[in-house]
Amino acid sequence: MFQKILIANRGEIAVRIIRTCKYMGIETVAIYSDVDKDSLHVQLADEAVCVGGAKSSESYLNMENIIQAAISKHAEAIHPGFGFLSENPEFAELCEQVGINFIGPKSNSIKQMGNKSKAREIVEKAKVPVVPGSVGHVKDLEEAMSIATDIGFPILIKASAGGGGRGMRIAYDLDDFVSAFQTARTEAKNAFGDDTMYLEKFILHPKHIEFQILADKFGNVIHLGERDCSIQRRNQKVVEEAPSLISDDLRQKMGEAAVNICKTVNYENAGTIEFLVSGDEFYFIEMNTRIQVEHPITEMITGLDIIKEQIKIATGEKLEYSQEDITLRGHSIECRLNAENPKQGFRPSPGTINLLHVPSGNGIRFDSFIYKDYQIQPFYDSMIGKVIVHGVDRTEAIKKMRATLEELVVEGINTNQTFLYLLMNDRDYSKGNFDTSFVEKKLDSLLEYEDYD
Ligand code: ADP
Ligand code: ADP
Ligand code: MG
Repeated sequence: MFQKILIANRGEIAVRIIRTCKYMGIETVAIYSDVDKDSLHVQLADEAVCVGGAKSSESYLNMENIIQAAISKHAEAIHPGFGFLSENPEFAELCEQVGINFIGPKSNSIKQMGNKSKAREIVEKAKVPVVPGSVGHVKDLEEAMSIATDIGFPILIKASAGGGGRGMRIAYDLDDFVSAFQTARTEAKNAFGDDTMYLEKFILHPKHIEFQILADKFGNVIHLGERDCSIQRRNQKVVEEAPSLISDDLRQKMGEAAVNICKTVNYENAGTIEFLVSGDEFYFIEMNTRIQVEHPITEMITGLDIIKEQIKIATGEKLEYSQEDITLRGHSIECRLNAENPKQGFRPSPGTINLLHVPSGNGIRFDSFIYKDYQIQPFYDSMIGKVIVHGVDRTEAIKKMRATLEELVVEGINTNQTFLYLLMNDRDYSKGNFDTSFVEKKLDSLLEYEDYD
């Protein structure tokens, strides 16, 4: 087992990883930027190294400084968390070269599956359905227009390097297409430094269903069931739940497909296979080759600690469980709490937390890094915490989430707390009548509350 791990991240996920390391008796090294010196992850880790300035490019994305920190502190492994360098094959490769264990897949798997258009090709060869679209990426606008005409509209123009809901544009007809293609391409170039694009048919009113995978170094692959992440705003997840409301038959088929995809690419460590579901049809959309934001809801219903499993796999341990050992218990929901003002177009709302009360109780979990008097920085993601509940069934989980959101107090900044509370009280949500267009459709009613600030 590792004696010391460096956590190449910040915020909630850094804290989450440090906690599991403590449970496992592993020492931790935090990294931080100038403005993050008072962050909880810095305080909780055994050691901490400043790796640069406030801008992510100077610190949390600064590969040389991070590797140097790991070497100087004698950390044997690096956990990348999510975002930042977690899906950067160059960083994984750098770790491999200097003999540091990257807690994730081999750099080659990231190269294959982290690139969304390449992943589509691989998955199609594994006989798993993908959304109808281009074979691999498109060369140029001309080729894109001709493929788009063949597939039919509406069409989604997507960036191969895309993530976090960015680099995506919908086109309803050929007139739309040219400007949408160019906008998406420019956005991709700016956000990811890569403007490789591909096309997918725009599936109307799908559900987003994803499977959590664990794979060891010996070719054993299992899934931990699925999550429904259809509650999204601008293609970014807001609320997730596990299990989803799909039939057992579909769950069985999709789970097998997800496992097969991983076997095809000799994948190892934790990963997620994302699908869109429309009626009884399912289509692969992408694989995330890292731990995911919403992993706790899977932990709640399986009883496993996925970070612990990641670390064990990275040290070369065999999976302790076979597929039959995995049983799903009850129902779990996660709400992403963001420092933002829903009434002002969800504009980020950094600032100082001057009052904080976090509910607790049976099946209540708050994964976060905020504390009273903590100053939320404007430089990073606006997610400040994840409210997670576990109930015997979906009805109880919803009630617990309502009660928890009602009791939670975060003052000093604007958050989406009330927006989430109203969402939990929506009758269609309670009944399970929702798909990826839910938030957009309900936006007006979800913003119907008094602003006291
Ligand atoms: P999922 O993991 O379910 O695909 P996201 O794509 O929203 O959900 O999660 C990854 C995103 O989280 C990144 O693209 C980035 O925008 C954001 N992110 C990166 N690092 C952090 C962090 N430390 N805390 C919160 N969010 C982060
Ligand atoms: P990201 O890498 O940003 O997470 P994804 O490919 O996973 O991008 O897509 C994010 C979300 O965008 C999906 O969950 C879904 O809501 C929507 N989406 C993506 N592709 C399609 C599609 N072909 N048709 C309809 N909606 C889509
Ligand atoms: Mg995705």
